[in-house]
Amino acid sequence: MYCNYHTHTHRCNHAAPDERQYIECAIAAGLKVLGFSDHTPYFFPGSYYSSFRMRPELTQDYFDTLLKLKEEYKDKIDIKIGFETEYYPAYFDKLLDFYKGFPVDYIILGQHFIENEIGAHYSGRPTDNKSILEEYVNELIEAIDTGYFTYIAHPDLLKCTADDSFAQTQYLRLCQKAVASDMPLELNFLGLSSGRHYPSDLFLQIAGETKVPIIFGVDAHKPQALNEPETLRRATTLCEQYNLNLIQDVDLIPVKSF
Ligand SMILES: [Zn+2]
Ligand SMILES: [Zn+2]
Repeated sequence: MYCNYHTHTHRCNHAAPDERQYIECAIAAGLKVLGFSDHTPYFFPGSYYSSFRMRPELTQDYFDTLLKLKEEYKDKIDIKIGFETEYYPAYFDKLLDFYKGFPVDYIILGQHFIENEIGAHYSGRPTDNKSILEEYVNELIEAIDTGYFTYIAHPDLLKCTADDSFAQTQYLRLCQKAVASDMPLELNFLGLSSGRHYPSDLFLQIAGETKVPIIFGVDAHKPQALNEPETLRRATTLCEQYNLNLIQDVDLIPVKSF
C-alpha cells in the first residue's frame, strides 16, 4: 500500500491519540504518504451540536501539530493534512470560507448524514426506505459536481434493505457518475476489519463492472489500524474477486485551488 488519506485524530472525540503513533505505524507498514483527514468542524445554526467532529477552535492546533510532525518526518513519509467532510449544501459555503484560513491539502467526502444533518437520517443506519438511498446518491453526485472533493469515503455507507435490484441501480448511477468525473471511490478498511455492512458486495460488483477507480482507505481511528496486514490481505482479495480498478494514489485537490 503506497498511501492512505483517511486518518483521524483524537479531536473528533472518538479516535485514539496520538499523531506520532499514527505516523510510526504508517512508516512500519511501508506507506509513503499519510493523509490526516479528521472529521471536519462544521458551522450549524442555533444550539445544535455535532459531537463526532472536531470543534472549530481545535483546527489551529490540528494544523500546528501536524505541520510540525510533517517537517520532522519529511525524510521518512510525506504527510498531508485535510478533512473528512460532509456535503451539506445549506452550510457548505461558510465551511469553505473557514477552510481558506488553513493550508488544507485536500478534503474527502464522508456523507455521514443526508440533507443537512440536523434531524436527518444517519447514513450508517440501514433503512428499508428507498427514497433515502436515492437521496444519498443524489447528494454524492452533487458533491462530485462541486469539484472540491478528492475522493469519496465509504460510498456504500448507506445500506438500503428494501430491494437489491433498486440498490444496484443506485450504485450504478453513482459509479457511472464517478467514472465520468474520474472520481475515486474508497474501499473502507474500518468497515472490513470491524465486520460492518460495508464494503458492500452489491456495491463492489457494480464497481468492478463499471471499472470505477477504487482507492484503499484505512479510516484509522487508532494508530494500529494503519498496520494491519490481515485487513490489507482481505482488501486485496476483494479486488481480485470483483476485478476492481484499484488505483495506488490520487491527485489531491487543495483548498487553495478552489
Ligand atoms: Zn470517525
Ligand atoms: Zn473517517
